[in-house]
Amino acid sequence: MKVRVDGELCQGHTLCAMNAPALFALRDEDGHAYALHEDVPAELEGEAKEAVRSCPEQAVVLF
Ligand code: SF4
Repeated sequence: MKVRVDGELCQGHTLCAMNAPALFALRDEDGHAYALHEDVPAELEGEAKEAVRSCPEQAVVLF
């Protein structure tokens, strides 16, 4: 499982980084999120799926 954040959709609500701090962080420049690791460790797959569900902009993409 891989994860990325669509920078065009992300509005910097921070939910992903709050819910899954091991997977996401926010850029200082624009406040948009990015994935810390494209490859999601098996133990964090649940958090990754929750981030997809909780992002109000549907900006978190699993592939
Ligand atoms: S929850 Fe969605 S909109 Fe908010 S920072 Fe994360 S990716 Fe961006």
